[in-house]
Amino acid sequence: MEQVSTSCVIAGGGPAGMMLGYLLARAGVDVTVLEKHKDFLRDFRGDTVHPSTLQIMHELGLLEKFLKLPHTRITTGNLEIGGRLFTIGDFTRLPTLCKYIALMPQWDFLNFIAGEAKAFPNFHLRMETRADDLITGDGTVTGVTATGPVGAITIKAGLTVAADGRTSVLRDKSGLAVEDLGAPFDVLWLRLPVLPGDPADLIGKVKGGQLFVMIYRSDYWQCAFLIPKGGFETIKADGLPKFRDRLKEIAGFAAGRIDTAITDFEQIELLTVTVDRLKNWARPGMVCIGDAAHAMSPIGGVGINLAVQDAVATANLLGPVLQKRVPDFADLKAVQARREFPTKVIQFFQVAAQNLMLAPTLRSTQTPRPPLFVKILNGWPWLRQFPARFIGMGVRPEHVELAKI
Ligand SMILES: Cc1cc2nc3c(=O)[nH]c(=O)nc-3n(C[C@H](O)[C@H](O)[C@H](O)COP(=O)(O)OP(=O)(O)OC[C@H]3O[C@@H](n4cnc5c(N)ncnc54)[C@H](O)[C@@H]3O)c2cc1C
Repeated sequence: MEQVSTSCVIAGGGPAGMMLGYLLARAGVDVTVLEKHKDFLRDFRGDTVHPSTLQIMHELGLLEKFLKLPHTRITTGNLEIGGRLFTIGDFTRLPTLCKYIALMPQWDFLNFIAGEAKAFPNFHLRMETRADDLITGDGTVTGVTATGPVGAITIKAGLTVAADGRTSVLRDKSGLAVEDLGAPFDVLWLRLPVLPGDPADLIGKVKGGQLFVMIYRSDYWQCAFLIPKGGFETIKADGLPKFRDRLKEIAGFAAGRIDTAITDFEQIELLTVTVDRLKNWARPGMVCIGDAAHAMSPIGGVGINLAVQDAVATANLLGPVLQKRVPDFADLKAVQARREFPTKVIQFFQVAAQNLMLAPTLRSTQTPRPPLFVKILNGWPWLRQFPARFIGMGVRPEHVELAKI
């Protein structure tokens, strides 16, 4: 069995794990990131790079290079209720360098971070390597066992980070308790073609009991069709023609593209929505970040950005410690102390939105009346910066404090 020793082992090469790996390696810490897939190519992941994440890229001196990657920019958020369009968010007034959401495939984002991190000799990325279990001694986590392309590996580390997403294996093995906040809906992701003259925007559509979100991606529309929790099997049993009819009712200007674009349920990706968080994010020797610590609802598209914010905060808090010694339990608890509040605030709004607005709409066959706040935001353009600020910058935005060595 291969045996490796490192200062920090990170399970999961998603936004949280890759960003933390990059930041620690940049600060001279020996770090090993384990990613179970052989590449970052996965469709319909979080592709919304928010102004807060773009600000981090700027602080790292990477923004100009990053924005050379193909992406589209969204500057407003819109809601169409029963055919009437309301603009409810405006990113152009944000006090950040980039006043827009950049839509970029998550694999491009992750490949970019991996490429930058590989410049540091103390950064070790092991693809096709799955973290299997924790190594413990005297109640303290001292590393992980993993399986790589050539077999079993033991990785001893002063710090183990679970950044392996919302189905985190390490979180399960750690025994840390999860609080499930519930989610009454799931999301079906699909693509529709873009045609000349389409609006380059983000449009949420509400009609009858249907909810549909269209995100302009320059060469296609990334679309989310919201369904009651667990409802995909019923939709499949009802058959494709009926599903296409439902899409046509809500897709507005794109309705005529449904028949040719959607020819098989294989083209539909189910996102089983989960909203949860750990009661304690750490145990001695180990800390959880990103979705492993708190799975977010897709409302607001904040998942990647919160994961990146967690990574920055973790690097700021634990990087200086790792440069000198093994972090103790109090050091690890500081990550939760810093990041729990922003997580709770955003989850509070997500849960309120899904329970008070989305679930009743999905249960009904009537188009709801536009809520008062929607009318106010639409009527007062200056106010639209506030929801954009909440979504685009989050609560307690992080800044890179850990210096490059
Ligand atoms: C279908 C879908 C659509 C989404 N849409 C959006 C969106 O539009 N905007 C948004 O902001 N968020 C969105 N999200 C959520 C967003 O993708 C996540 O919140 C974000 O990626 C969390 O980052 P993370 O690094 O914590 O976890 P993840 O991105 O889940 O990364 C975890 C990584 O760990 C790897 N892994 C898992 N287990 C192991 C193991 N045992 N060993 C080694 N590696 C392991 C996984 O392969 C993965 O690469 C979406 C999620 C899904 C599933």
